[in-house]
Amino acid sequence: MGNDELLELTRRLRRRVEQSPRCCWRVGLVPSGERKTNSASRLAEIAERVARCQLCPLGRTRGKTVPGAGSPEARVMFVGEGPGFMEDRRGEPFVGPAGELLDRILAAIGLSRQAVFIANMVKCRPMKDPSRPEARGNDRPPSPEELSACRPYIAEQIRVLAPRVIVALGAVAARALLVSEAPIGRLRGTWAEYRDGSLAVKVLPTYHPAALLRNPELKKDVWKDMKALRAELEQG
Ligand code: SF4
Repeated sequence: MGNDELLELTRRLRRRVEQSPRCCWRVGLVPSGERKTNSASRLAEIAERVARCQLCPLGRTRGKTVPGAGSPEARVMFVGEGPGFMEDRRGEPFVGPAGELLDRILAAIGLSRQAVFIANMVKCRPMKDPSRPEARGNDRPPSPEELSACRPYIAEQIRVLAPRVIVALGAVAARALLVSEAPIGRLRGTWAEYRDGSLAVKVLPTYHPAALLRNPELKKDVWKDMKALRAELEQG
């Protein structure tokens, strides 16, 4: 058996063990410090693979990859659609005005970037015109093919963190995580479930912060959703 086959076999076995409800990480037999170190190193390993990834055409036109950032012990993941202009420059998710608004939303319910994990469905910037990366207004949502190519990375991040709740920010993330075609106006505010093998995580879809900047009327719905998130987390 060659090295590549051995590596793949090891990965598959690890996934099966981690997805088992009897896995020691899940039942709390592993001390939390050790869990944190393990999660951090596995998230870093995913980020390294993302940095080399060319699985879809976005890999050829990106500035920096944006794998995601936050606590390796996060109980809450916030997932958006993909990096934009600023994120592509900095390699960080949710920077710029939409990121600042997300920071304020987190603070309003007693959370911070350091306490949660923030990521996107795709890790490289989708552009309307890749020949003009500096042009403003050049961002676009990821295509179904790009979402499909990149999905293994977010799926792996979710398996590593096994969070209590995923907040899906916007239509693209909500539909992709819930495998739904419903509009975000119908999905938002209703608890749903993300499933991956035996892993099941509660999902709360809400509007993307960029949508709130365009239409401040939506803020009252997001505030309702964040109160529901806070109530869920207060249950322990
Ligand atoms: S968007 Fe995802 S699949 Fe496409 S090149 Fe970037 S990391 Fe790879």
